[in-house]
Amino acid sequence: MDRRHVLKGGMAGVLTLWASPLLQAGQRADNAVRKLTDTIAVLDGGGSNVVALTSAEGLVLVDTGAPKSGDRLLAALKGLGGNGKVHTVFNTHYHPAQTGNNEAFASAGAKIVAHDRTRQWMSVDHWLPDQDRYEKARPKAAWPTEVFFNTGSQKIGAPKGGTEQIDYGYLMVAHTAGDIYVHFKDSNVLAVGDVASPVIDPELDWITGAWIGGRVSAMDALLKIGNEQTRVVPGSGPVMTWAEFKAERELMETVRQRLFKQIRQGDGPQDMVDGGVLKDLPRTWKDPYKFLYAAARGLWGNHNKLDPDVV
Ligand SMILES: [Zn+2]
Repeated sequence: MDRRHVLKGGMAGVLTLWASPLLQAGQRADNAVRKLTDTIAVLDGGGSNVVALTSAEGLVLVDTGAPKSGDRLLAALKGLGGNGKVHTVFNTHYHPAQTGNNEAFASAGAKIVAHDRTRQWMSVDHWLPDQDRYEKARPKAAWPTEVFFNTGSQKIGAPKGGTEQIDYGYLMVAHTAGDIYVHFKDSNVLAVGDVASPVIDPELDWITGAWIGGRVSAMDALLKIGNEQTRVVPGSGPVMTWAEFKAERELMETVRQRLFKQIRQGDGPQDMVDGGVLKDLPRTWKDPYKFLYAAARGLWGNHNKLDPDVV
């Protein structure tokens, strides 16, 4: 969620005179560049996170922000040096909040790397079940230019000598069909897209195949990639410590166990709300039904993977 939209929506026509300075304050905060190391920063991409690595060859980005955030993003990138020239973009998944400015970077010469399924979802019209409509395919100019299936790795020159190793890999059906992580190994910064969601409700894009079992498995895979010093950059919200990421994995595992129990009893999403699947947890959901509806759809599609001790 873009905070400016909340301000605009909440105050429109009510506090017009006061909204203006608040809006400017909000924009300043959104534009803040969160420096993680000398070479890695997290920027605001219109409510979602954009990771930028400064390298000898230009900038390497993880995700390109939401549609219409491009001008502000580019201005912030220019502040990182090299006139904001982007060498490579990784897309963690196909959602517009992560791929919204692909066109601008691709047309300026950047290579766009993503999982094959991400390109598939961007290149065809696809059904948005919660909005009951088809979404048009993205223009070809926005599509990833280089895809992979499992993992990849490349070394890139650091600005002051040395190299940064960038490892990336598939996180199967954790949030969408084509989620990936990007691990800046030498800096120990791990970008995971919306496979971690510390602020907004975790989302399972079930029509692409995402489900709760896939999400927990992906988080377990990530736990093997990082270590106690790893900093985790989620798709939106604050950068997480390893302990915070582990805590979110524990929470999702608790939810998974409760969901398996309920689905074995033949329960639907409202039964899951009533059954307290999301109660007594360290966090609350803004829209429990929406999450549980998606979770139930994903569980029905994966009923053959439920534990064998079905009553
Ligand atoms: Zn997403």
